Amino acid sequence: MDAETLRQYLEYYQDLGIKTLYRRGAPLQKQSPAEPPAQEAAGGAGEPLFRILEDIGDCHRCRLGDQRTKIVFGTGNEQTKLVFVGEGPGADEDAQGIPFVGRAGQLLTQMIEGTAKKEGIPLLRQDVYICNVVKCRPPENRTPQPDEMDTCGQFLARQLLAIRPRAICALGATAAKYLTKSKEGVTRMRGNWYKWNDIPVMVTYHPSYLLRAYNVEPKREAWEDLKKVLHFVYD
Ligand code: URA
Repeated sequence: MDAETLRQYLEYYQDLGIKTLYRRGAPLQKQSPAEPPAQEAAGGAGEPLFRILEDIGDCHRCRLGDQRTKIVFGTGNEQTKLVFVGEGPGADEDAQGIPFVGRAGQLLTQMIEGTAKKEGIPLLRQDVYICNVVKCRPPENRTPQPDEMDTCGQFLARQLLAIRPRAICALGATAAKYLTKSKEGVTRMRGNWYKWNDIPVMVTYHPSYLLRAYNVEPKREAWEDLKKVLHFVYD
């Protein structure tokens, strides 16, 4: 493991609130090839998330790696029942290495915690897991291209298989289409259940879309979607 990977690994644990780590006796594995072992791709449930981060390493498997500042792996509770998947890091996330920390991220936090509180579900942002389809910021915040999503998607798949949540909430069209392979628009998909590898997927709007002042009705719909997924997971 090189110094940069180790730094990200330690930051990741710090985000989880873990302050003490023990060194294992055996030497750490070197960065693995681009593709995970077939067995893991087919269902590596239970592999620790740090192994996936270790495999990502100082990734330059696609062009996004050349312009990013930090890889944005994911953050939250590894044992959660609910995972949120966004599109890809923006400028704030790229700078900090943590997903959804900018304005859209603050709205997402409010949505999760506010809806949970209203519905009588004791849940904080740190109790769920949040990640993106691609781990590096696309230049000018453009939509990730299909080959970039395919290259990075192997790591998202491993994260989801490792966590095995009771449900996934896809935020916006990119995550929704990538996870469900549906060709429908997000307006038609939202509020409906789909499946990713047998795990139920609820589609809702991306918080960036909801930040636009005129999007009052979509905001109401997003709260409805969130209520639906929270009750499904936590009732
Ligand atoms: N938008 C996303 O899709 N993901 C982030 O992490 C931040 C903004």
